[in-house]
Amino acid sequence: MHEIVQAATRFAATHVAPNAAKWTREGRMQVDALKAAAAEGLLAFQAPRTWGGHEIDFGDKLDLLQVLAHHSYDFAFSLTNTAGCAANLATTLPRAVAERYVPAMLKGERFGGSALSEPGAGSDFAGIKTSAVKDGDGWRLTGEKGWITNAAFGDVFITYAQTDPTQGWRGIGSFLVDGTRDGFRRADPEALAGGGVIGAGGFKLENYRVNADEVVAPPGQAFRRAMASVNQARTYVAAMCVAMVDACLDTAVAYGKSREAFGSPLAAKQGWRWMAADIATDAEAARQLVASAAAKIIANEDAALASAHAKKFATRMAVQRISDACQLMGAAGLREEYPFLRHLASARVANYTDGSTEMQNERIAAILLGPAQ
Ligand SMILES: Cc1cc2nc3c(=O)[nH]c(=O)nc-3n(C[C@H](O)[C@H](O)[C@H](O)COP(=O)(O)OP(=O)(O)OC[C@H]3O[C@@H](n4cnc5c(N)ncnc54)[C@H](O)[C@@H]3O)c2cc1C
Repeated sequence: MHEIVQAATRFAATHVAPNAAKWTREGRMQVDALKAAAAEGLLAFQAPRTWGGHEIDFGDKLDLLQVLAHHSYDFAFSLTNTAGCAANLATTLPRAVAERYVPAMLKGERFGGSALSEPGAGSDFAGIKTSAVKDGDGWRLTGEKGWITNAAFGDVFITYAQTDPTQGWRGIGSFLVDGTRDGFRRADPEALAGGGVIGAGGFKLENYRVNADEVVAPPGQAFRRAMASVNQARTYVAAMCVAMVDACLDTAVAYGKSREAFGSPLAAKQGWRWMAADIATDAEAARQLVASAAAKIIANEDAALASAHAKKFATRMAVQRISDACQLMGAAGLREEYPFLRHLASARVANYTDGSTEMQNERIAAILLGPAQ
């Protein structure tokens, strides 16, 4: 096991497992926990070695995110968003520009993410309205972003904006946005009944100036790069859903062996055992779909179809099977000491992020049938 995955496993046991319920109760991202993760090198898992990062391969990334998501999907999702943003800046911006952000992000002094969605455009990414207008050798950005992971507390965002509405997706570019500069105004974080630990929020840009050397991907490339990286995101979201289902099944199995009803343990009753077996089968099926998508990503093959299958199946399955595992527990499953309701809310979130379940179907159908007439 890679040393940083080992570190994540220790961190999950010492920091995430004991605190996940409290974080959910408080309903907000715990910045101190991200700082503690940074002290263990966890925010540098993806950054290049030339930046002091671990640059782990995709298989190790799945392992790392799964050990964290076992206890808190939301924490793992927030962590990978800021770590991924830092790695992206390190590999795309001129070194002198990236120096101003990447070291601070790896140390947990600043946090970030990717800002595609807007209050008026989620699934329809090509329909974003945030505009980028040429200003000398740089750009001026105006618009609003919403539902952005880490926007409740972060201030470094790879932000997508339309440079020419007549060009559709080809007009979209991505730009470094620094929340400490003029023209950036943070919105109130989303007040969520579940999933608040992700720190989803938004921000407004008013004539925000982007310098020429702060363009992450120019128009024509930004949309393509976002679509290429989304296959990885879909696969790790699916893997994290498997981790949550495993956690819930493990908990229910342990409980069912000790809890008695009608003179014998719950785990001795056929109806109870079969539901547990069905959960295990679906988790295994999702695991295999994740493995298939991951193998394509690692081999640098087209993973669009495999990652869409994995995400669609795993996220839907997680909602159903986490709920089933909770049913196996009786009323005890509702207690916050157990992961069921926390993971159920996270599984719902997973059905939206990085392309909703319906968008996975759109992708699968387009590959199966060609474009809709
Ligand atoms: C906790 C959280 C964190 C997030 N983090 C980020 C982030 O970091 N960065 C970011 O950019 N975004 C982020 N998002 C936003 C996420 O990407 C969007 O929620 C997602 O793209 C869906 O968009 P929407 O919610 O606006 O739904 P809509 O696009 O309004 O769709 C509503 C429903 O209709 C369905 N639908 C839409 N179009 C079709 C169609 N053509 N056919 C059939 N069904 C359709 C959708 O699947 C969905 O079920 C986050 C969301 C959440 C909940």
